[in-house]
Amino acid sequence: MADYDAIVVGAGLAGSTAAYCMAKEGLSVLVLERGNAAGAKNVTGGRLYGHSLEKILPGFADEAPVERKVVRERVSMMTDDSCFTADFHSSRFNDPASASYTVLRAEFDAWLAGKAEEAGCDVVCPAVADELLRDNGKVVGVRAGEDDLTAEVVLLADGVNSLLGQKAGLKKELAANFVAVGCKEVVELPKNVINDRFGLNDGEGMAHLFAGSPSNGMMGGGFLYTNKESVCVGLVVSVEEMAKSSVRLPDMMEKFRESAPLKPLLTGGKLVEYSAHLVPEGGLHMLPVLSADNLLLLGDAAGLCMNLGYTVRGMDLAVASGQMAAQTVIEAKEKGDYSNATLSGYKKKLENSFVLKDLHTHRNAPEFMEHTPRMFKEYPELAAEAFTRLFKVDGEPSRLMLKKMLPLVFKVGILNLAKDGFKAVRAL
Ligand SMILES: Cc1cc2nc3c(=O)[nH]c(=O)nc-3n(C[C@H](O)[C@H](O)[C@H](O)COP(=O)(O)OP(=O)(O)OC[C@H]3O[C@@H](n4cnc5c(N)ncnc54)[C@H](O)[C@@H]3O)c2cc1C
Repeated sequence: MADYDAIVVGAGLAGSTAAYCMAKEGLSVLVLERGNAAGAKNVTGGRLYGHSLEKILPGFADEAPVERKVVRERVSMMTDDSCFTADFHSSRFNDPASASYTVLRAEFDAWLAGKAEEAGCDVVCPAVADELLRDNGKVVGVRAGEDDLTAEVVLLADGVNSLLGQKAGLKKELAANFVAVGCKEVVELPKNVINDRFGLNDGEGMAHLFAGSPSNGMMGGGFLYTNKESVCVGLVVSVEEMAKSSVRLPDMMEKFRESAPLKPLLTGGKLVEYSAHLVPEGGLHMLPVLSADNLLLLGDAAGLCMNLGYTVRGMDLAVASGQMAAQTVIEAKEKGDYSNATLSGYKKKLENSFVLKDLHTHRNAPEFMEHTPRMFKEYPELAAEAFTRLFKVDGEPSRLMLKKMLPLVFKVGILNLAKDGFKAVRAL
């Protein structure tokens, strides 16, 4: 008889959610996490869309260590000397079903793993699952160091690299055009300073994304999220483009931090954390095989993440995939059948949910970003030039708006603008 009904590899949001949901239904569950604690190895920019966790743990934000509820959205186009920003402030996101929160993973993931423990899971950290155990080809557990641990089913929630998923043949080695590299700094600032600088009240947060010069014109961008007493600031840039560039990510980060729009927001802050991580961005095109006999793949390990430029989403998909993987395993236990005939129900659940529906809706987004470099170079420059012409008064005879703007439009090309605009609304 197996030691456990299920072994979960990785105590990120996908793994801990799956573990919690299975344990709550009485399954025996072991979670292995290679970090010293859940959350220790996990990186996110900072914003969790709460809807999927709200369905599992209603009212979770009252208890969980969330930082601030996002009520203010900013999107900027930056050049080396200018910055155009759209700023949207609203109380319409107050409903828990559509609220989003800034989070620090070290605290948030530890809380969620604690919930799984309370529900009865064994959570062991640090513990690295080195390989899958097989008996006559069938997955029967994992080997962690000297220990052979057996289970009816193994859930791989081991993140974007998922070496175990690759070894099991469920997914291919990561292709450079399907991943971005992200780096992030956490800068401590007093609460009242954050409130004043970002125009927020206590508990209110801001999400700010930047395109253009922060990624040095490459596919990617910058981000800034406000926490209670810190801000997270960072960059996400295509690995494929970084590999061709002579500019290093830490140098880009320094330039971004020192830029005119950012510097005053961070002045007086204390850098308390630096991290870097890969982000799966291939969307539906990098979707792996999601299940096999006695094996499931979830969260980033399954590439369930989207970068749409104005928002990055992976955590709500990780939570939802954890829940659906757990539901599938519960059904498998009821049937006494952990073969792929039952476990493939996981993919159907994902297909019927927002997870694969959203990835399908935005299936052209990765290609759009990859093949529209103007988004990251020419358009920020165009915005800067347009606003310069609009606001510059230098004693030269003024010209009508049309005359000011038309040459700019011709510079990029009307056809290019129309083509890119059409592609953007179809992809994003
Ligand atoms: C810079 C950056 C910005 C982002 N911004 C956002 C954002 O604002 N909003 C959003 O929703 N998403 C964002 N994302 C994406 C989001 O962070 C991920 O989609 C999410 O963390 C995926 O959760 P997960 O549980 O699947 O994987 P992870 O959080 O990566 O967890 C995997 C876990 O598995 C463990 N592990 C790996 N291998 C083993 C092993 N062999 N044995 C034991 N344990 C193992 C790891 O230590 C880790 O704890 C961002 C990502 C990055 C990098």
